[in-house]
Amino acid sequence: MPLPSYRLTLVSNEQICPNVRKLRFEFVEANSFTYRPGQFVSFQLPYAEKPLKRSYSIANLELPNEDGLVTTNYLEIVISYVENGRATKIFFEAQAGDEFEISGPVGLLVLGSELAERVFLIGTGTGMAPYRAMLNQLTELSNHQFHILFGAQKLENMFYLDDFWAADKKDNIHFYPCLSREVADNCHPGYVQSQLELLKPNPETDLVYLCGNPDMVDDVFDLLKELDFGVKQVKREKYVFSKF
Ligand SMILES: Cc1cc2nc3c(=O)[nH]c(=O)nc-3n(C[C@H](O)[C@H](O)[C@H](O)COP(=O)(O)OP(=O)(O)OC[C@H]3O[C@@H](n4cnc5c(N)ncnc54)[C@H](O)[C@@H]3O)c2cc1C
Repeated sequence: MPLPSYRLTLVSNEQICPNVRKLRFEFVEANSFTYRPGQFVSFQLPYAEKPLKRSYSIANLELPNEDGLVTTNYLEIVISYVENGRATKIFFEAQAGDEFEISGPVGLLVLGSELAERVFLIGTGTGMAPYRAMLNQLTELSNHQFHILFGAQKLENMFYLDDFWAADKKDNIHFYPCLSREVADNCHPGYVQSQLELLKPNPETDLVYLCGNPDMVDDVFDLLKELDFGVKQVKREKYVFSKF
């Protein structure tokens, strides 16, 4: 069955890092769109003869209902700049008032009933968007300990930090910004892999979510496999490129 589609109007388009823009849209038909934090949508973008289809994670920070669902009037996404990227050009140049079409939501990188004692939420760059969307839900799941690892080269490449640090004030949420190319206050040196190893992941008690750069996702998964993690204990969402 085809996924439902929705029309959106761009409300704002803001640069939040040297290479990342945050786009906020409003749904033309209010309260028609329902999602689970962690899911993504597919944009259909007019392009020459054939439209482009591109996926973007929902970055909205909202409170889900008791079934874990959010019905919303708006959509927020964060987009990294890709050299010669076709969708990148469209989004980076888009103006308030421009109309878009999406379908969805889709995706299994959500907080289900199978949560473990400790849950690691690991991402790089815009791969942090799904975890931002989960923050209010994590607060409510106080029987679980959540460790959020954000990887970037430099502090200037990080965003939504206020939201992650505010969540870190809760007893069950722990935030670790990891910088691979500079040293900064309150940040951990090196890749997310180094920080993960310090937290001694254990397949008996832990569940790991990985999102973003496909190389990072593969590298961390390889590391976890060496520690006897199986596919059921590692949820992966790779931001793979589209063929067209
Ligand atoms: C489930 C899912 C969720 C996603 N969520 C997000 C999100 O929230 N934010 C986000 O920014 N992206 C996200 N992506 C990636 C996004 O869908 C596009 O692939 C990305 O924006 C590039 O599209 P483009 O049309 O600009 O580039 P294209 O025109 O498809 O590619 C142009 C050229 O750049 C290469 N290329 C494409 N992407 C990259 C890259 N990242 N790095 C280096 N080279 C590249 C291609 O191979 C090609 O040669 C997601 C992908 C998936 C599958």
